[in-house]
Amino acid sequence: MRKERYKVFLSEDEIPHSWYNITADLKTPLDPPLDPSTRQLIDPNKLKVIFPEALIKQEMATEAFVPIPEEVLEFYKQYRPTPLIRAKRLEKILDTPAKIFYKYEGATPSGSHKLNTAIPQAYYNKKEGIKRLATETGAGQWGSALAIACNFFGLDCTVYMVKVSYNQKPYRRILMETFGAKVIPSPSEFTEAGRKILAQDPNSPGSLGIAISEAVEDAATHPDTNYSLGSVLNHVILHQTIIGEEAKLQMEKIDEYPDIVIGCCGGGSNFAGISFPFLRDKLRNGRNVRAIAVEPAACPTLTKGEFAYDFGDVAGLTPLLKMYTVGSQFVPPSIHAGGLRYHGDSPIVSRLYKDGIIEAIAYKQREVFEAAILFARSEGIIPAPESAHAIKAAIDEAIKAREEGVKKTILISLSGHGHFDLAAYDDYLNGRLEDVEISDEDIKKTLSKLP
Ligand SMILES: *Cc1c(COP(=O)(O)O)cnc(C)c1O
Repeated sequence: MRKERYKVFLSEDEIPHSWYNITADLKTPLDPPLDPSTRQLIDPNKLKVIFPEALIKQEMATEAFVPIPEEVLEFYKQYRPTPLIRAKRLEKILDTPAKIFYKYEGATPSGSHKLNTAIPQAYYNKKEGIKRLATETGAGQWGSALAIACNFFGLDCTVYMVKVSYNQKPYRRILMETFGAKVIPSPSEFTEAGRKILAQDPNSPGSLGIAISEAVEDAATHPDTNYSLGSVLNHVILHQTIIGEEAKLQMEKIDEYPDIVIGCCGGGSNFAGISFPFLRDKLRNGRNVRAIAVEPAACPTLTKGEFAYDFGDVAGLTPLLKMYTVGSQFVPPSIHAGGLRYHGDSPIVSRLYKDGIIEAIAYKQREVFEAAILFARSEGIIPAPESAHAIKAAIDEAIKAREEGVKKTILISLSGHGHFDLAAYDDYLNGRLEDVEISDEDIKKTLSKLP
């Protein structure tokens, strides 16, 4: 007998004790990061200027499972395992034979999945004697998570926040400051990179790429300070697999396995987190599971970008990564899913897409908000606009299941709640939200500037 359940909890003793490193199971090896100055293989010692050795080691790890340190598990236990919830009312409204489950990462103290990597990053830096972490934030989700984690471990935290968000989203700034972080609108006068941009354009609204340049420079020029990134890099992807490992155990408990796993995709960490533990079964045993990465039509990295070496920032300070990119000079239009506006994508997610292991789809923001409202009204949770991209894809798949008359089990990561995004909901509800799509011409322009 199958148990029909709304919610599946695990006890804190059941939290997985390892992260999953999918690179151990990749058929095609990853292209290595290159040194931005020499364009040759990067010397890992160079990364020590901004990263602790433990994370550099994880960045290059080859073993399939990496143990989670006891101290990190202690913090995870405060909010993990997050619940796995069946969207029964949504299924009913859609009149679909499909089962829809969501893993609710909005249940973390920071309100999104990003705390899952902020905690181990702060931990490893603290362990290696670092006093301060510098980072960037766009919409503020990553800055919030790192501020909380630094506060846990007694580290100082400097957050370069994209200026337009700093001005438009004071609540995220206040949240970070509540945890003791110093928040600086970017571009700023504090760094060479920031001063250069301001000299060209004193009214620059900033971008994630600019803020990354500032944070990296800050870390590289202060010996007691390291840099911390909230997505894209292999070690971040690794930490987020805790989401999918838990979801797998939860689905096992009710005798379920997803046919489709869906995650929204900015830099790829949430998508990787929910899908990689399931893709392990596909890569190792040929299990038939589809994984769909969902991105905004306004920043269509996988669906319209190019698989090429590119910088992670505007100034060209970061290592060159082989990834799907719309070009590091790409300034995305200001859409409301701020967390999905990054020009590049995780090299691992990119490799899987290139090899046809995963799928990708892009949606415009109005259809995404329509899905968000339907979800909110059926499940009672206001999703982050980023997460709503995954909801939209799940709804489309559930409708397809109805039309084709097939049973299907769909799993999505609900990467965060939208309580700090209500202004965007207000815009949508009052007809002020416009669809923005990037033309092929625009993308060609920034792609022509690839290094
Ligand atoms: C940052 C963020 C994302 C996108 O980042 P990824 O690295 O692609 O996961 C998605 N959802 C929420 C709620 C976020 O804060």
